[in-house]
Amino acid sequence: MGTQYLRRTETARPTQARAHNRSLVLQHLFQSGPESRAELARSTGLTRVTMSALVDELLSEGLVQELGSEEPSGKVGKRGTLVGLSEDRWCIPAVNLTNDGSITGAILTPSGQITHRFREPHPLPGGNEGIEELATFCRALISHADSRILGLGVSSPGIINGEGFIEQAPNRGWYEVPLADILRERLGVEVHVANDANCLALAEYSFGGAAGDELLTIVVGQGLGAGLVAAGTLIQGAENAAGEIGHVTAMDNRDLPNSDLGAPQTCACGRTGCLETLMSETALREFTDGLDPGARDRVLAAIGTRLGIVLAPIVATLNVADIVASGPEALLAGSLLEACAREIRERTLPRSHRTLRVRLSKLGSDGGLRGAAVLVLSGRLGIA
Ligand SMILES: [Zn+2]
Repeated sequence: MGTQYLRRTETARPTQARAHNRSLVLQHLFQSGPESRAELARSTGLTRVTMSALVDELLSEGLVQELGSEEPSGKVGKRGTLVGLSEDRWCIPAVNLTNDGSITGAILTPSGQITHRFREPHPLPGGNEGIEELATFCRALISHADSRILGLGVSSPGIINGEGFIEQAPNRGWYEVPLADILRERLGVEVHVANDANCLALAEYSFGGAAGDELLTIVVGQGLGAGLVAAGTLIQGAENAAGEIGHVTAMDNRDLPNSDLGAPQTCACGRTGCLETLMSETALREFTDGLDPGARDRVLAAIGTRLGIVLAPIVATLNVADIVASGPEALLAGSLLEACAREIRERTLPRSHRTLRVRLSKLGSDGGLRGAAVLVLSGRLGIA
C-alpha cells in the first residue's frame, strides 16, 4: 500500500505562478473594490513591476478597467489610477433550481450585483422534459445579457461533481446527467453547475458576512442539503456527496413515546426517518399546517432539536463558527433554529460552540443565484 502525504504548498512553476497571481489580483479586486496598481502590489505582496504587467494583461483581456484616480483625503500626494473589475463589460447569468415550485434566474455583475431578474412561476418537470425546459429558460435568460457573458452558473439540488455532471438528483429524476456539457453545447457559452447548498456556501462565504473560515449552510427546499466551507475551501468530499445530511437518520421508533412528530416516515431514498422527512419545505408545511401557534412552535422546536442532534457532531469535528439556513423563513426563523442551537450547545463542549452562530441567511432567496455567480467567477477566473 502506498503512503499518502498531506498536501503541501509547493514552489509554483512559472505558468502556475502566473495563473495564481492573476486570480490573486482578481480576487483582491472582487473583495476590496478598486485600487491603484501600487496598492494592489502592496496588498498582494507582488512587486510593482509584476503587478504592472499583470494589470496590463487583464486590461487587454477586458477583465479589469481603469476608473480614473481619486485624491486621498488628508494625505499628501496623488493616488494612482484606480483599477477595478470590468463591471459593465462582463455579466454572469445565473439560475437557481432549489425551489420545486419555480425556476429563478438573474443576470449579475462580476461583483455579484443583480441587474435583471427572471422567474418561471411553475415547477420544472422531471427527467428529460425538465432538461429541455431548463435549456429554454437559460436561452431566454442569456438573450437579456447586455454585455459579454463570462459564464452561466446553475445551482441545483443533487450530487454533482466538479465538472457539472449530475450523478443523481432523485427528486428531479436526474441520474448521470452531464448538465454542464448539455447546456454548454445548446447555448454556446461556458457553463458551471454545482449543488445548491454548495453554491449557497460560496455565496455566504463571499457576500454573507461569515465570521470565520468554517461555515455550514443548510438549504431547505424540495429536499434538504448542507454545504461546507472548511479552512476557507469548499469541501466536495470523496464522492462529491459532502453535505448530504438530509438522509442521515434523525428519527427511529425508539423516539415515539415522547415525540411531537409522530412515527418516522419513509423517505424518497427508501429509508425511514431521514432528516429530510422532517425538514424539506413540504414536510415542514405538512407538520405545521392548521396548528395553533403554541402547537406549531412545539412541533418546529422538535424538528429543530432533531436538526441539532444531526449537526452537533459536525460542529464538534470542524469547530464550525457559522451555521446559515436558507429556505422558508417563516418556518425556519424562531423556534426551529433556536432549538437547533440549544441542542448543539447541550451536546458539545463550550469551546466547540463558544463563537457559534445559528442564523438565517441574509442573502435570502438570492443566495443560490449569487452562489452560482461565484461558481462562474471561481471556475473562470480563480476567484472564490
Ligand atoms: Zn432519505
